[in-house]
Amino acid sequence: MQITVKYIFVTGGVLSSVGKGITAASIGFLLKQRGFSVTMIKIDPYINVDAGTMNPYMHGEVFVTEDGGETDLDLGHYERFLDINLTKNHNITTGKVYLSVITKERKGEYLGQTVQVIPHITNEIKDMIRSASKESHADISIVELGGTVGDIEGLPFLEAIRQMGLEEGPKNSIYIHVALAPTLSTTGEQKTKPIQHSVTELRRIGIQPQIVVARSIAPLEEEARRKISLYASIPKKAVISNYDVDTIYRVPLILEEQDLPELILDKLDLNGIPKPDLAYWKEYVDTLSNAQKEVRISMVGKYVKLKDSYLSIIEALKHAGASFGVKPRLKWFEATDIERGKIDVEKVIEDTDAVIVLPGFGKRGFLGKIEAIRVARESETPFMGICLGMQLSVVEAARNLLGLRDANTTEFDPNTPHPVVVLQEEQKRLKQLGGTMRLGAKPIRILPGTTVHKLYGRDVIVERHRHRYEVNPDYIDRLESVGLKVSAVSLEDELRVEAIEYDKKVHKFFIAYQPHPEFKSRPLRPSPAFRGIVAAALGVSV
Ligand code: GLN
Repeated sequence: MQITVKYIFVTGGVLSSVGKGITAASIGFLLKQRGFSVTMIKIDPYINVDAGTMNPYMHGEVFVTEDGGETDLDLGHYERFLDINLTKNHNITTGKVYLSVITKERKGEYLGQTVQVIPHITNEIKDMIRSASKESHADISIVELGGTVGDIEGLPFLEAIRQMGLEEGPKNSIYIHVALAPTLSTTGEQKTKPIQHSVTELRRIGIQPQIVVARSIAPLEEEARRKISLYASIPKKAVISNYDVDTIYRVPLILEEQDLPELILDKLDLNGIPKPDLAYWKEYVDTLSNAQKEVRISMVGKYVKLKDSYLSIIEALKHAGASFGVKPRLKWFEATDIERGKIDVEKVIEDTDAVIVLPGFGKRGFLGKIEAIRVARESETPFMGICLGMQLSVVEAARNLLGLRDANTTEFDPNTPHPVVVLQEEQKRLKQLGGTMRLGAKPIRILPGTTVHKLYGRDVIVERHRHRYEVNPDYIDRLESVGLKVSAVSLEDELRVEAIEYDKKVHKFFIAYQPHPEFKSRPLRPSPAFRGIVAAALGVSV
């Protein structure tokens, strides 16, 4: 039987970063709570084929999917809010669309036609949206268009979703526009003119939104709602107020209160669905925001000026914290500042309950990270290393415990006499950078008797990866002689080190992971690795 997918297209206006991704994810959450199978797609109009080659400073974290897609961080929000796994097909970029069209053109698949933005690019976009939606067997597919209406690079995507509305029919598609209603600091007045303009811009392309979600600091005032309703030509109840709240996980609750799901379902001809009981979610959100007790964690990395670079890690810590009824208080340290002596490394372990050395690429700040690892080890402060954080834990041990002074990862010193972390064998043959790391979900065998085994309670786990370098197995015996044991290996070949930990005699809680456990953490299913570090920080058992 052919199942019709219903499409919800979410566009943005006025400014980017107003919380369109959270709004879309919250809508997905509310519809899923009503029993629908919901999937989500993010469109990013940039030319990069995927986010993998982008600096986190520009665009925030690169979110890794199970199938090894290097995607936009909004996919992380979607996975966490809906508790689903997405694939790389759920992040569509201009680069991906053009790559596919140009590849077909070179193969002669267009049979002599002139290949053009309309219809070829727009058809490709529509095909990608439809096939990602169908692949997930979704009843409802939410498609979020990145950027704001009026961006030149967004035009082909707007045209494609306009056409889809026509082709799918009014009962199978709906347009929601999320835009900012700024408040003037002088008068405190909420202004709607920017929204009026962005709706006009959307209409100029041929899209009439049926719902406008206004982002604002405080709940939308009656007058603002009236004006948006009038100028956007939608009933007042279709103007939804999405105001600032204490935690992103409260957004579904404020949208639910305004009956946004009913409004959507009514338009999509899906009536008579009872309202779900969200008491459990409200309770969770209240635990997140009302927790009095804090757990202080020092975060050491090189992209700390843009916290979005570590978004999934921050969320994973919140989830783990909530499961113990505590709130993480994160203290950020720029590794370069430690390296240059601008910050005394001892500050990393002062007034803190744990230290995390974060993932990263490139040489800048790596000595600062090694120093942070050293002080955490020497002071027995609970420690977690992630990816590069694990690789540098090995370098630190080799330098400071084994006395191999110039030990290094070959990423930072290709000629080191002691290459304790090396490029993976298969990487040596590669010529291209994009999408070529060891990526995505890989099975891992946890060695019995280790703390990691105690945390996960399983012999085999699956975590997501994103790396090119790995621990050099030739040094494992020597590292073990100073108490740094291998706690997990890759199931595929048993040689790759996936986690390490110090013997309890050396350090009470020091664990580092090659994969990124943060990507699989969910609000109500926190990652065992993150629960581990929070428990150690609190001095309680998991
Ligand atoms: N740069 C290291 C590698 O490629 C670590 C990567 C990471 O931290 N995600 O292996």
